[in-house]
Amino acid sequence: MTSVFHRVPRVNLPIAVGGDGIEIIDSTGKRYIDACGGAAVSCLGHSNQRVIDAIKRQVQALPYAHTGFFSSEPAEELAERLARTAPGSLNHVYMLSGGSEAVEAALKMARQYFVEKGQPQRRHFIARRQSYHGNTLGALAIGGNAWRREPFLPILIEAHHVTPCFAYREQRNDESEEAFAQRLADELEAKIVELGEDRVAAFVAETVVGATAGAVPPVREYFKKIRAVCDKYGVLLILDEIMCGMGRTGYLFACEEDGVTPDILTIAKGLGAGYQPVGATLVTDEIFDTIVGGSGFFQHGHTYMAHATAMAAALEVQKVIEEERLLDNVRTRGEQLRSVLKETFASNAHVGDIRGRGLFVGIEFVDSRESKKPFAPTLKINARIKSEAFKRGLMVYPMGGTIDGKVGDHVLLAPPFITTDSQIETIVERLQQAVDAAIGSVQ
Ligand code: PLP
Repeated sequence: MTSVFHRVPRVNLPIAVGGDGIEIIDSTGKRYIDACGGAAVSCLGHSNQRVIDAIKRQVQALPYAHTGFFSSEPAEELAERLARTAPGSLNHVYMLSGGSEAVEAALKMARQYFVEKGQPQRRHFIARRQSYHGNTLGALAIGGNAWRREPFLPILIEAHHVTPCFAYREQRNDESEEAFAQRLADELEAKIVELGEDRVAAFVAETVVGATAGAVPPVREYFKKIRAVCDKYGVLLILDEIMCGMGRTGYLFACEEDGVTPDILTIAKGLGAGYQPVGATLVTDEIFDTIVGGSGFFQHGHTYMAHATAMAAALEVQKVIEEERLLDNVRTRGEQLRSVLKETFASNAHVGDIRGRGLFVGIEFVDSRESKKPFAPTLKINARIKSEAFKRGLMVYPMGGTIDGKVGDHVLLAPPFITTDSQIETIVERLQQAVDAAIGSVQ
């Protein structure tokens, strides 16, 4: 019996009572390797003493002060650090409590920017199918996951969707990467023209697609071409790095690898590593100056924005990542993870694709590798793998509907940045056993 309205009700969840490095310990003492960081959150594992001490110090000094009255030292220092490390002129950081809040703020900033600029006709948002930008109404509306949106369609704002840069599923056999990227950029341009050349406010995309399609990196040059189309029509580029940002791909900001700078960038998850709920929206000088030079303030706000304790936690997380040079480990261990996975599953006809960047890896499962035919959704292959892995003390992040929101199965791996060589081996070993058991159970 529980009075908690759980995410998945009527399932008996174990009670998590402790954390030890990359493991979570339940109330029976069982240990689970957190190979997905929950949902790509826990990048420092579950017991980082420096972060725990920073939180204690902040709570001792002052847990919270409303941002209508005060700023706080950790908020100032964290914002300065993010502005300094972010690409281009993304120098202004709006601090929030999670990913969806960051996306809502991004959408409203884009809209207010155009209102201040004297272009109130710009009201359309274009995003991509098979994207996820959060569950609040604005973020859900622009997200491209059909299943998540469906019950709420009548109450969602209008949004438009184009083809994702999902090479395994969307790139034609006779098409080069370059031609594929060009086709997608042309599609975006056609959509902008269809909606009205001066009517689109922003194009929104995850730099590396996370939950809905499973760690899908863009092909080379894709974002450069997208940036050019946006610039041609004065459309803002919003990159959502809530899952893939803050070091997950081996770069603090995933878009650095693509050589593009967005106008607005959202981050969360790895920002606070799960030690506190935190998110942020970064904007360029141009957007900040237009809004602040116009009506003087951004017409938005939340009670807990820039919460002092969350700021202290996130600041320390970011210091640990830099001082312990953890991004080097993300790159090395990421390469190891993908290569061990490829070796282990080389002869498994049900592993269709292994993809990703850094310690952000997606494995797509298929009925047939040759035809890329997915499993029937009723088999719930991804959920079976999650459950077989969990039995074996391994957490992986499963998802169905990889292809179109209904069919397709993948699991996502996003282990903490502190994961060691031998822990990578153990993760893959347990995953292999789980995959064999799950797929074996339906054949
Ligand atoms: N955007 C992306 C890319 C995400 O992966 C997520 C969460 O998974 C969100 C937005 C929403 O973040 P939150 O769950 O913190 O509201």
